[in-house]
Amino acid sequence: MQRPPPLSSLLLIFPSQYKLMSNSSTWKSLSRISSPRLIMTFGLNIWGGTSFFVSKAYKQLAGSRWVHPTFKWISSSSCEHKHKVFFWLLAHDRLSTRNILRRKNMFLQFYSCVLCNLSVEETDEHLFLHCELEKSCWSLLGLVVPSSLDPFQIMEHFKAQLNVPFFMEIIIPLCWNLWM
Ligand SMILES: [Zn+2]
Repeated sequence: MQRPPPLSSLLLIFPSQYKLMSNSSTWKSLSRISSPRLIMTFGLNIWGGTSFFVSKAYKQLAGSRWVHPTFKWISSSSCEHKHKVFFWLLAHDRLSTRNILRRKNMFLQFYSCVLCNLSVEETDEHLFLHCELEKSCWSLLGLVVPSSLDPFQIMEHFKAQLNVPFFMEIIIPLCWNLWM
């Protein structure tokens, strides 16, 4: 193991990190959220290494978690940035659909879908996948929306059905146009 440099030089080289890590509450917080091995790795990045990277420490602390490939498909698509942001919000259920507005205590005369007469609450899933109007749009592209699948499984299904490398450049603008 690399021998730690003297404390005085640490203070000169990494003043902010020294201040952070010399604070006992920082270590207490770390011990609550992290494994001992993680704390040690994080500490070694500061005390033993010659350079400290916030990104490296963040990755150590945040760990890794699986995300659906849809998010990779969004970022690697060549759609306009605003369209990508829109679809990212849609994938996270953050668009201001009527069910979300109701959840935020916004008063509306009705909360059902504005595009069909089914008296179904307007959710992003209904609006973009299961609404009759949207279903007819998908069918124009030869896409079938299975009601038994969740939205991410439907994305995989669309990808397989379209079977072209630019499938997101088809899906994202279609959803955008429906929303606008
Ligand atoms: Zn509808």
